Amino acid sequence: MTLRAQPMGETPSPMDRAALQTVVTLDLEGVLVPEIWIAVAERTGIDALRRTTRDEPDYDALMRYRIDLLQRHGLTMSLIADVIGGLGPMPGAREFLDALRARTQVIILSDTFEQFGRPLMAQLGWPTLLCHRLVVEDDRIVDYRLRLPDQKRRAVEALRGLNFRVVSAGDSYNDTAMLAAADAGFLFRAPPNVIAEFPQFPAMDSFDELFARLTGELA
Ligand SMILES: [Mg+2]
Repeated sequence: MTLRAQPMGETPSPMDRAALQTVVTLDLEGVLVPEIWIAVAERTGIDALRRTTRDEPDYDALMRYRIDLLQRHGLTMSLIADVIGGLGPMPGAREFLDALRARTQVIILSDTFEQFGRPLMAQLGWPTLLCHRLVVEDDRIVDYRLRLPDQKRRAVEALRGLNFRVVSAGDSYNDTAMLAAADAGFLFRAPPNVIAEFPQFPAMDSFDELFARLTGELA
């Protein structure tokens, strides 16, 4: 049988689908672990760190504001890593992820940073995480680097270009381009406004249902 890359937006025939391997891509925050910046705000008592992309849609302005706050409060990278290391995955997240990884390849696509993700990946059994990176000097966060704009969507498109069937799940606005680019996309524990705006993506709240829907899409 000749394999061909799946053109974007085409539904594979049953024959094509049987010839494809599947990769699942998952969002991190709000799906497997709590929102990291909210948790850092809670653990450090710095309420101003609760500001999110909903309050400040300009991501660069938001990150400058956060980095400035960290510097003014003298928060070191190691202290923040310690705070994040104290966060647990969502109840049931580790079991869900382990079971899913036993069935298919899983890649976590997140807009977080390597340094923030690392303590959480340790608690999730070191799954593959593609994200961005902070610039740290003398244990201080001084800047950040986005590896690639719109990286979730572009990762899914790249995987489809490698002839994988891609199935995705996420919880928020920054996931919808990824869900649309995938062969099948699901909203998990999404807020009501996201569910209402994106009715094309089935929405669910339990890991059992998400596992059933994702594995039901395996080629
Ligand atoms: Mg999220």
